[in-house]
Amino acid sequence: MADCLFCRIIRGEVPSRKVYEDENTFAFEDLNPQGPTHVLIIPKKHITGLKEARAEDAELLGRCHLAAAHIARERSIEDGYRTVLNVGPRAGQSVFHLHVHLIGGRSLQWPPG
Ligand code: AMP
Ligand code: ZN
Repeated sequence: MADCLFCRIIRGEVPSRKVYEDENTFAFEDLNPQGPTHVLIIPKKHITGLKEARAEDAELLGRCHLAAAHIARERSIEDGYRTVLNVGPRAGQSVFHLHVHLIGGRSLQWPPG
């Protein structure tokens, strides 16, 4: 999508600190990290959010989570990390290109706020 921030990051039009990339997914450091590790994993295909995802996107959603697990393993934070999708403005979704937050490297409280 032409004016989507995360599509522009994928195309390299907006700078980011890239962590991982493969054919289907792209991952980069969150600008406002909520922990020692805070990485965003996004599908290269523009999907607005989880509620807009379709059955044909199921594999892509899985791939984003597997990329998160791969990054967590690389960073040795497997003693505890969280993957989060904020869905809709009331849950804090502020960028409308689906993204998985990978947060770890510190103790995490439950339930989240
Ligand atoms: P959400 O609030 O779930 O939509 O998450 C959006 C996330 O994107 C927030 O954690 C922001 O800190 C992060 N963010 C916004 N703009 C950028 C950017 N240009 N580069 C990296 N992360 C960003
Ligand atoms: Zn997009």
